[in-house]
Amino acid sequence: MKIVALNGFKDIQPGETWLWRRVEETARDVFARFAFQEIRPPVLEKTELFKRSIGEATDIVEKEMYTFADKGLTMRPEATAGLLRAVIEHNLLAARPLRRLFTIGPMFRHERPQMGRLRQFHQLDVEALGGAHPLLDAELMAMGAALLTELGLTASLEINSLGCPNCRPAYREKLLAFIAGRSGGLCADCQRRSATNPLRVLDCKNPACRAEVAAAPAILDHLCPDCAAHFAGVETGLETLGVSYQRNKFMVRGLDYYCRTTFEFLTTNLGAQAAVGAGGRYDGLIEQLGGPKDTPGIGFAMGMERLVLLLQQQEQADAEAEADLYIAALGAAAVNACLPLAQHLRERGLRVTMDYEGRALKNQMKLADRLGTAWTLIVGDDELASDNGLLRDMHSKEQRAVALNAAAIGEATGQ
Ligand SMILES: [Zn+2]
Ligand SMILES: [Zn+2]
Repeated sequence: MKIVALNGFKDIQPGETWLWRRVEETARDVFARFAFQEIRPPVLEKTELFKRSIGEATDIVEKEMYTFADKGLTMRPEATAGLLRAVIEHNLLAARPLRRLFTIGPMFRHERPQMGRLRQFHQLDVEALGGAHPLLDAELMAMGAALLTELGLTASLEINSLGCPNCRPAYREKLLAFIAGRSGGLCADCQRRSATNPLRVLDCKNPACRAEVAAAPAILDHLCPDCAAHFAGVETGLETLGVSYQRNKFMVRGLDYYCRTTFEFLTTNLGAQAAVGAGGRYDGLIEQLGGPKDTPGIGFAMGMERLVLLLQQQEQADAEAEADLYIAALGAAAVNACLPLAQHLRERGLRVTMDYEGRALKNQMKLADRLGTAWTLIVGDDELASDNGLLRDMHSKEQRAVALNAAAIGEATGQ
């Protein structure tokens, strides 16, 4: 009889390992530039660690962990707990009060493979320990955004605050009262968990639940002054760093230990909107695990399977594209100016095409779409006058001004 891999466990085959390496190498490079150091905790830990950190009354601990019951050991279902255990055990916070660490590796959860979930999946996990300042939160999100950008992926960032032990209980009461009047319209899961964890009702994906909670009170309107100031600091930091984001009042975390800042990187390129990464602040957790008192922390994890899938999609789209860049030159003067530019870009290795028939912009954009180009450069009289063309990213639909020379356009398109 032939022995095959376990259900939910997947071989990463020779044809795809290069994409995995690209994700790992880009991550190591970006994280290093933010002065994060790598740590590699083991995948097996005492079950008690996950019960104490993730919380006993969570789906993960209740039904998703791979536990060797007779030995009290568990395959890690996420990276934070083991990483913090290592930091505390080796006293890493004594040598320096702020530690920036990351780890890359497999996690294990007893998920249902028929839903397309893997039981061994891989994460990039990043933790900044010992800092409570909102700029640290903003920096961490900027690093996540930088990684996605350098991988050539587009994702949006959504943020929220979960408050703190001083302000969350009062909000929880408000939310409970709101939900109590509507429990009849909620799904069975939400009816069950609304009493123990009403915040989870907010991010239920069930359309009926979404409709019921649409008008729910937002925690952002019920933060204590300290939490409100912290959240404002995060937003200011993101703006200063040029990281675009949106507030999402329905974003909560499933794990008990999160507080204040919570965030997700989302993509629409995998069918429905899906998170490629998520994280948040967990100021009480280090102490809860026996570490130094009042040691704040914040971190995020990104799913490597999703990143690789997005890269695969992009590779395929690029391979099918007939050109990398379409130049939409509007008018004779623009065509003349763009002819040598196209030549210079081709010399740099870019596949460039343009149209000489004087078609309207709308028609030229349709043509670029049909060619499958990743980029379109729009040049009309205004652009000629300012010597700046409009470069449109055909995947994200974002446009920006870029100087009309091969070096600037080559840099902007990554060539
Ligand atoms: Zn608070
Ligand atoms: Zn629900």
